[in-house]
Amino acid sequence: MRSPVIHWEDNMTMRVIVVGGGITGLVATRKFRNCGVAVTLIERTFPFGGRLRPERVDVPGYGQAVFDPRPVFLGPACYNLDHPEAPLGFPPLGLRPDEFRPETLGALRTFPVAHVESRDGDPVPLLPIERVSIEGGAKGLIDLLLPSGRDEHLELFCDTEVIALEPDGRGWRVRVRECGTLNDDRLTRTIHADAVLLTQPIPAALALLDASNVKIPDLLGDELRRVRYERTITVTAAYRGPAQLPAGGAVSFSDSPLALVFDNYSPGPSPPGPAVTAVANADWAAEHWEESDEEISRTLLPLIAPWAGGELVWHRVQRRDHYRATSRIRMPFAEASDAPPLLIAGDGFAGYVSNALDAAYTSATHAVTHLCRALGREARIANRPTRRTPSAVSLEVCVTSAAEAHIAIGGGADRLLLCAAPEVGGLTPTVDALRLTRRAVAQQRRAVPVTVLIRPRVGGFGYSSDEFEQMRRDARRLLKAGADGIAFGFLHARGAEVRIDAERCRSLAALAHGRGRTAVFNRAFDCLTDRRTGLQDLLALKFDRVYTSGARRLALDGTSALAEAVGYGGWDIEVVAAGGITAGFVGCVVRETGCRHVLVGQRRRHKDPTASHRLIDTEYGVVDGARLSETTAALRRAERDDELASGLGLDEDEECGVPVTSVSQPDAA
Ligand SMILES: Cc1cc2nc3c(=O)[nH]c(=O)nc-3n(C[C@H](O)[C@H](O)[C@H](O)COP(=O)(O)OP(=O)(O)OC[C@H]3O[C@@H](n4cnc5c(N)ncnc54)[C@H](O)[C@@H]3O)c2cc1C
Repeated sequence: MRSPVIHWEDNMTMRVIVVGGGITGLVATRKFRNCGVAVTLIERTFPFGGRLRPERVDVPGYGQAVFDPRPVFLGPACYNLDHPEAPLGFPPLGLRPDEFRPETLGALRTFPVAHVESRDGDPVPLLPIERVSIEGGAKGLIDLLLPSGRDEHLELFCDTEVIALEPDGRGWRVRVRECGTLNDDRLTRTIHADAVLLTQPIPAALALLDASNVKIPDLLGDELRRVRYERTITVTAAYRGPAQLPAGGAVSFSDSPLALVFDNYSPGPSPPGPAVTAVANADWAAEHWEESDEEISRTLLPLIAPWAGGELVWHRVQRRDHYRATSRIRMPFAEASDAPPLLIAGDGFAGYVSNALDAAYTSATHAVTHLCRALGREARIANRPTRRTPSAVSLEVCVTSAAEAHIAIGGGADRLLLCAAPEVGGLTPTVDALRLTRRAVAQQRRAVPVTVLIRPRVGGFGYSSDEFEQMRRDARRLLKAGADGIAFGFLHARGAEVRIDAERCRSLAALAHGRGRTAVFNRAFDCLTDRRTGLQDLLALKFDRVYTSGARRLALDGTSALAEAVGYGGWDIEVVAAGGITAGFVGCVVRETGCRHVLVGQRRRHKDPTASHRLIDTEYGVVDGARLSETTAALRRAERDDELASGLGLDEDEECGVPVTSVSQPDAA
């Protein structure tokens, strides 16, 4: 999947404050600079690196030594997100090949990890037991991520804490305080930015928002408070004598107070002999949290000794509140406020990737892309042109029968939405209509998923309990008959506010997800009074897809709302542009919004001679194969143009033309 990219003109001066200089903050800072956004990075401690920062300590009889929390276990998102086919050794963390400095970072390499089944047992090697890490350790990684060289649009602050945020017109006033001094009258000052990205662990981010009186949507707050971080106790120790662990190696335990012991060697001033960090397992740490350092050392040091070797010369016990996020949420970041923009990112997000560091990287990447979009819109308002490059787009076609399914697939449909009566916005189809449609799809020998609409009547989306029960039964029957997904929407009104009925949605979504099918929120979305909160609700409810026209009759008129929805949720939920989309402006919608999914009707009037008396309408709509083929061709042309514009053909700064042509009637969706 290729993320849309925004290229700024050289004179772009939008500024973001990134709070927290851990891996999330460093990745974000680097990516913002790559996008041409000015950044102020503020970190409370020294040096940068957050939980992974190497520590300088005085080892008695030796002097200063650096302990590096290596090996850094990297998952696929870190080392080859953009190039899954790339061999090991490809520049990690989304760095461009020309940013990859082997002299600092060494190279990605596999390090040996042994596993011990029981406290007294022998190490039992697991195959494959190797984990990918970086030879330069965490220090190499952090050095590399920190932007180097003079850059007037980059400010880096260590030992500086953000103590309050306050919205200020179109931006934020951020109050910061020096930390590296014991003076009571520590220097405080205020910095201004167009947007803020918080990257500290989620509880710390929420505490800062609370202290600053910045309110976030309730459902989002609840979701964020559910993220749990593992507490742990670590013991870092230096020894004299031969090392037991291979350089960069580690040993993990399944039945011990220890979870992991890893080699701690750092390039540069290292301890005299072997050095290790031992991580206690979470249960043991919780049980012994209140014990003194001496008591903890008494238990853990003898368990570490066989893996360290030699005489102990120094050790230190540390309690870590946020070792790593254990119950992450799926969304890649949270939008606490859109105007002015305020996002939260970090290893508590992107629950769909494998490990904590991957999550930090993935979260930072998506948050940056989202903020770039938001700032891009601001920039356009301020008359600073931007350009973006959408990627491949899927085409979904609304059909009512097997015959239309044939036409739709012949016309290029990637997936089908089956419903009855599209002229009134669509109603639940019959089970037989689904069976015949599936048979038609099978005959075409193409994997075209069929979603069915669950809508018992025309009108709004607040249903009686009988209607709700009918919808549940219809959904069950249609899923059983082979529907690949169900599209529905439940809303309720509180005064003037129309919100998503989370309880009913959860119930129907569970029916789909329980069978491994997709849950799609229909165009009820466009009736919400606050669609941003609605999108957050849909993310929390784990919807797979949402149809929207940007709350206008035609998607062409709702492009800014569509772009916003894609920008916020486009990585975790498929935002499908719907509403009167035709060959004339499908390319425009895609370019303007970044949508990678469109839903079209493309129906023409068909005359039925048997209904030729005055009481019954003689015409009804059918999918028009020729118009559909035109739309498909226009869509593919737009994709090709974008590919060319995204670097294969056009110059980076060249403007991408947006063809806006005729507009036709809206389709039912
Ligand atoms: C010893 C150790 C080994 C680990 N090994 C691995 C591993 O091998 N693989 C893996 O995937 N994960 C590992 N992890 C977990 C991994 O380190 C974290 O998931 C990752 O570093 C999180 O990065 P982050 O930037 O999201 O958060 P953090 O590293 O917590 O960074 C947040 C930063 O925000 C700063 N901050 C907080 N409040 C403020 C404020 N008000 N103002 C300014 N700054 C503020 C903090 O000082 C901190 O530096 C390990 C963790 C530890 C402790």
